[in-house]
Amino acid sequence: MLAGLAAEVDERQDEQRHGDGHGRVGEVDDPVEPPFRAHHRSVAHRTRSDPAPPARTGQQPRRSAEVTLRDMEYRHHDLVVIGTGSGNSVITPEMDHLDIGLVERGRFGGTCLNVGCIPTKMFVLPADRVVEARRADRLGVHVDGVRADWPAIRDRIFGRIDSVASDGEAYREKADNITVYREQATFTGPMTLDTGTGVTVTADRWVIAAGGRPRLLDIDGLDRVDPERGVHTSDTIMRMESLPERVVIIGGGYIAAEFAHILDGLGARVTWVHRGERLLEHEDEAISHAYTRIARDRHDVRLRTTVTGAQYDGGRWALTAEAEDAAPVQIEGDAVLLAVGRVINTDLIDAHTAGLPCHDDGRLVVDAYQQTPTGGVFALGDVCSEWQLKHVANHEMRVVKHNLLHPDEPIESDHRFVPHAVFTHPQIAGFGKTEQELRDGGVDFVSGEQRVGDVAYGWALEDTTGFCKVLVDPQTKLLLGGHLMAPDASTLIQPLVQAAHFGQRADDVANGQYWIHPALAEVVENALLDLDP
Ligand SMILES: Cc1cc2nc3c(=O)[nH]c(=O)nc-3n(C[C@H](O)[C@H](O)[C@H](O)COP(=O)(O)OP(=O)(O)OC[C@H]3O[C@@H](n4cnc5c(N)ncnc54)[C@H](O)[C@@H]3O)c2cc1C
Repeated sequence: MLAGLAAEVDERQDEQRHGDGHGRVGEVDDPVEPPFRAHHRSVAHRTRSDPAPPARTGQQPRRSAEVTLRDMEYRHHDLVVIGTGSGNSVITPEMDHLDIGLVERGRFGGTCLNVGCIPTKMFVLPADRVVEARRADRLGVHVDGVRADWPAIRDRIFGRIDSVASDGEAYREKADNITVYREQATFTGPMTLDTGTGVTVTADRWVIAAGGRPRLLDIDGLDRVDPERGVHTSDTIMRMESLPERVVIIGGGYIAAEFAHILDGLGARVTWVHRGERLLEHEDEAISHAYTRIARDRHDVRLRTTVTGAQYDGGRWALTAEAEDAAPVQIEGDAVLLAVGRVINTDLIDAHTAGLPCHDDGRLVVDAYQQTPTGGVFALGDVCSEWQLKHVANHEMRVVKHNLLHPDEPIESDHRFVPHAVFTHPQIAGFGKTEQELRDGGVDFVSGEQRVGDVAYGWALEDTTGFCKVLVDPQTKLLLGGHLMAPDASTLIQPLVQAAHFGQRADDVANGQYWIHPALAEVVENALLDLDP
């Protein structure tokens, strides 16, 4: 969150303008809201043609060609954008002369704003406060009766977020060069899209930003989301009426980890079932091992365990789970959170029918310019990206925007050093290669390590688990990867990401600047210094 009120107001105005919560001060091409446009068009389940918008002066959008054939209406746009997450931010005032179709089946603003990064982190913060209060004894501070108020936390969060989504939608609907289609759209032929509203569209250019959705399990009872009976995904769990006493979380990735922290922190008992050997297996092994130990101290963690059946008795779930070399066990909970991965939405849009090739995991194939093999068709974000992260979707969105506006000078996406963070307690962050990837790839490397508990600020924290690990090319001294488990790891990692991105040598980064004493950043400085014998 921004520190100053002025900055916060600026950011909020910007978020509202773009509607996905990710507008930043300085990111908007035209910070002045365009004059009110009376002739917006929004389409939901339409059966007849809109009246043509009146002529405008100045640079005008070409009005979409409209043909009504029986009950189906056909339109041609200059540009069609599918998805209002990062896709919505592609549309800037520089495109006011284009006739644009914007397609969205769900909440305006997409995953990050409504059901992803932003609300989860807004839940993580109160959970952090509770956990810190519970553990304050070791600092000589005694906090009695700490209690989280789920409805108050939920309402504060969505009271803020929901208005950003609705303001963003209203802003787009006001624009007379944009037609908003508010249903699930599906391709019915090569680049021919049935918008689900009675209008089928074609376009000169396309941006596909259709994202993904939570995966369900192929188990009776867990094969559909059912909040009434306590079966949730990340899409629904944050809006629960009340916090259940016992929650079973299925899955071992970052979404499972963040919700384990949130739900336990706010007062539920968590049983966490994962079929793998460790939690957060994609992290550097050292982080994954250390985090698994921490999680085991805090939750009832069942590893190498697969859920095979589910029974509901009217108020409680009994899951059958099979562990390796052991008899099946019953695991009970009042609610179940399915955090077993994400499905790419290329099936919903029927990319195959459009003639758009996909990878085996369902992601659209794109080149470095974010262009699909079909000319004029771009894709960005989760629908095509290996990373499934919002900052990657945002980066790809900027690349697509540039390439739409400057087709003769296209730019490439830069995916060299993509950082990520897991907002558990403590936080985890990393970028680049893990140690096991370097080993498996036969890459020469040296590593430097520093425990949080051994720097001065770590003494203040009484930290016993955190550390920073850096992996460096011994010849060039360039960073190959960085991994951190520490309070605020998501922020602490940034100097390492910056050094890697700009090709700075690890020894220069360590020795060539001041590091504030006794700040926690000394854990990063010392990990870099540890590289030198
Ligand atoms: C619980 C959770 C926590 C997360 N936390 C983080 C985090 O801390 N940091 C981070 O970087 N990332 C995080 N992510 C990932 C991040 O949210 C996504 O990478 C990002 O939002 C993807 O943006 P996108 O624009 O590609 O897709 P989305 O934001 O998913 O947008 C796609 C849009 O397309 C619409 N759509 C799809 N198909 C159709 C169709 N056929 N017709 C019409 N509309 C359609 C959808 O309704 C959706 O609104 C998190 C995700 C989840 C689920």
